[in-house]
Amino acid sequence: MPKFILDDKEIEFTQGQTIIEAAKQHGIDIPYFCWHPSLSVSGNCRMCLVEVEKMPKLVIACSTIAAEGMVVHSQSQKTIEARNAVMEFFLINHPLDCPICDEAGECKLQDYAYQHSVGESRFVEEKVHKDKRVPLGPLVMFDAERCISCSRCIRFCDEIAKDPELTFIKRGDRVTIVTYPGEELDNPYSLNTTDICPVGALTNRDFRFQARVWDMSDTKSICIGCSRGCNSEIWVRNNEVLRLTPRYNEDVNSYWMCDHGRVNTYKFINAEDRVKGPFIRKEGNLIQVSWEEAYSQTASKLKSFNKDEIAFIASPFATCEDNYVFKKFAQSIIGSKHLDFMRHVDPNFGDDILRKNDTTPNTLGCELLGISPNKSGLNLEGIFNGIKQKKIKAAYIIEDDLITVNPELENIFTELDLLIVHSTNFNRTTSIADVVFPSATYAEKNGTFVNFQGRVQRIRPAVASIDVDRAVDGLSLSRLDKFGTKYDSWAEKNKRDAKSSWKILTSLSAFFNNKFKFNLTEDVFDEISKNIKAFNKLDYDVIGEKGILLENINKEQSIKV
Ligand code: SF4
Ligand code: SF4
Repeated sequence: MPKFILDDKEIEFTQGQTIIEAAKQHGIDIPYFCWHPSLSVSGNCRMCLVEVEKMPKLVIACSTIAAEGMVVHSQSQKTIEARNAVMEFFLINHPLDCPICDEAGECKLQDYAYQHSVGESRFVEEKVHKDKRVPLGPLVMFDAERCISCSRCIRFCDEIAKDPELTFIKRGDRVTIVTYPGEELDNPYSLNTTDICPVGALTNRDFRFQARVWDMSDTKSICIGCSRGCNSEIWVRNNEVLRLTPRYNEDVNSYWMCDHGRVNTYKFINAEDRVKGPFIRKEGNLIQVSWEEAYSQTASKLKSFNKDEIAFIASPFATCEDNYVFKKFAQSIIGSKHLDFMRHVDPNFGDDILRKNDTTPNTLGCELLGISPNKSGLNLEGIFNGIKQKKIKAAYIIEDDLITVNPELENIFTELDLLIVHSTNFNRTTSIADVVFPSATYAEKNGTFVNFQGRVQRIRPAVASIDVDRAVDGLSLSRLDKFGTKYDSWAEKNKRDAKSSWKILTSLSAFFNNKFKFNLTEDVFDEISKNIKAFNKLDYDVIGEKGILLENINKEQSIKV
């Protein structure tokens, strides 16, 4: 491999790599604003100036191709002076309103002002004033005074969202960003511009002014908005989810996520209509009962039916662990053959960027786990017909609001003698249920989903419910602990009385004298990896932070999903 010298260190590079790319690959940080690894090079911020021996002037590392034998200095006196001068120019007209800026704490300009500037301004004239609050679209707010004209947002719309909506107008210190006449910044990926804006010029209207970044914990998770399974971070303060941001995974979502996934997949976690504790219908009303009463009454109700009269409907919104234990409960505890799940496909949702028409996170997981009827059992259609014909008298549904998806099912399900539902929130399906168990959301539990590619990926608890697996949750709870007594006492008050579906079913199994032996989510996954070929030899450590592509699966199956 060819090599060049950077700051007295010999580093290897691949042909065609720029100095900044090669340096980054070797963990050497050359500062930059306008460069982004997934966007074209514009070279306008000049922050990455470096000194190259035998070149007459400083060059920008983002567009200078590395060459064999080149000698580069990123820390020389000349480079540092140039960098400080670039920072001084940026700060001349910048409002320096960090105390009221949403970006404070995660702002490149703020960070670099500490590292690469002299700490005081020689500029005594009046700064140029520009518009402070310009809604560029339904989700993005623009503060023109903070903009450093890096053009990242423009390049993102042109190159990634493939929807050119932004451009520069004017020149010199009057330059600013606008949308094209008659256009708004409203492409399905618009909020990524707020992530890549290196300053607080573009902010997320769904989140701005809700919390300071240093007051929140962040936990690695997976978006549940479609079968892409974009890697995400869940940001939490006082046990409340306040925003989702994308987490880099080159094999799944690169640096991005869509606006739907970011804005529409967390509010139900904080909602007032969460099911808090188990409920049983008494004299027509759902009444909250103790867990013991809910388990014993549910068990005795189930025992009053013949096994062929009970149908089980699993969920592509539930984890592999929840679906696995549900299937095990249906088949080994009840002995029912009627098991299936509903597919959720929106032909208008997908695109050729990230979004998939399958609007659930775990359809392929359900398929691999064999969530389907036994030979003579009924599939979903068969179950609905069986209810109409009074052959199916009881149904057990987890984590899927089937009636909201298909309102015609309400008339069918009201024919049942018993409807048991696990749900995170009250909804149209719980409204006619006889028993409602409170299931934990994806932000309150451990577990795995399999995305459309056949990649198994982990979720972890980001907010505390009564029932978090502390033993396997080192990651988020150590972060929670950091906030000390104030946080924990608040969290204690706001913990929701909800459990993972597999835990509810494990407790329920004890009332059939055949208690499952699962204590932690990992115990369930261990059994899955032993019993289901696609998951052989996997555990949570092997899956890691970025997931792992399952090898033992039918590739056509993943393409279909
Ligand atoms: S709004 Fe942000 S991303 Fe866009 S040009 Fe200005 S500083 Fe760069
Ligand atoms: S593309 Fe799908 S998984 Fe990714 S953020 Fe959007 S909805 Fe979520």
